[in-house]
Amino acid sequence: MNSVRRTFLKNYILLTSSVLVLPNMVNALPIKVINKKPLLKFSYKPYTLELKHVFTVAANSRSTTPVMLTQIEYDGIIGYGEASMPPYLGESHETVGKFLAKVNLSQFSDPFQIDDILTYVDSIDINNTAAKASVDIALHDLVGKLLGKPWHKLWGYNAAKTPNTSFTIGIDTPEVVKQKTLEAMPYKILKVKLGKGNDKEMIDNVRGVTDKPLFVDVNQGWKDRQQALDMAHWLSEQGVIFIEQPMPKEMTADIAWLTERSPLPIIADEAVQRLTDLVKQRNFYSGVNIKLMKCTGMREAHKMVEFARSIGMNVMIGCMTETSCAVSAAAQLSPACDFADLDGSLLIKNDVFEGMTIEDGKVTLNERSGIGIIRK
Ligand SMILES: [Mg+2]
Repeated sequence: MNSVRRTFLKNYILLTSSVLVLPNMVNALPIKVINKKPLLKFSYKPYTLELKHVFTVAANSRSTTPVMLTQIEYDGIIGYGEASMPPYLGESHETVGKFLAKVNLSQFSDPFQIDDILTYVDSIDINNTAAKASVDIALHDLVGKLLGKPWHKLWGYNAAKTPNTSFTIGIDTPEVVKQKTLEAMPYKILKVKLGKGNDKEMIDNVRGVTDKPLFVDVNQGWKDRQQALDMAHWLSEQGVIFIEQPMPKEMTADIAWLTERSPLPIIADEAVQRLTDLVKQRNFYSGVNIKLMKCTGMREAHKMVEFARSIGMNVMIGCMTETSCAVSAAAQLSPACDFADLDGSLLIKNDVFEGMTIEDGKVTLNERSGIGIIRK
């Protein structure tokens, strides 16, 4: 090889190669030019949320919630995600960790291929919806940051159309219920948990303090459809807007009977986790509570919101007890929803993110790209 050609090759290799090529290595031709494209780097760590109050629903009580904080790094940009594991979903630090250990995102070099990446993640195992959501949220945050836009804008939603959020009042003693209702003054709507046999007392205790509109969530606590219908009539006279998951999800015939006769909309929660459930259950309920942790994240939640709207169902966007990370991800969808129950981060003492806020009771989105959060 003559020296002119060798000098040309040396300069060409130095310009195009991502590996460090020392000048004297050029003699050792042929040299492979290595592609510089960065790969997706995925990592996660367990975290435990401390609740401000012991939280009681029809099935159990608790004062902490385990979460998994995730991140995907690409070309120096980090997208954040989260899995929240309330007991009823059957996931824990252990199960989520086990699932996430199988996720190999380094096989992907293009974060914009959201569909391919999340179809792969979904195919790794069945269930594990919160673990899957933690990857989905981090990827959406990353892609939004790479595009320099928040997801509500990428989806074409109007940030001014966000609903008011409800604030949840768990089942408790009359004193605590009254105190929590007083503390909830900044919120325009309250969500009262029922289903433990003291339903009228719960409503009376709340009504002793405020006349705000109420959502009620029975968490499958009623077993008799006639009693459920009687309660629906009584609740409609107490300023209640809808009833969430009144009866066990398996009692579809009774729920359909109730929905047909109830003066209040009947909203599915436990009965509908993913899009396929929504398609199957759509004739039994008037609306659906969509949560990222149930449905594997923002990609599927967006499809569910659009499907439910297209067939005239009421749509609520909800959350678990979680940090501002997952709540802000869910909030990106809220302009397309009739109702929001996005109080998850307000119930905890040790949030690690700042994100969407509640201004005068209303879900308020910011202009930050991705899911709109910063690490505290
Ligand atoms: Mg619920």
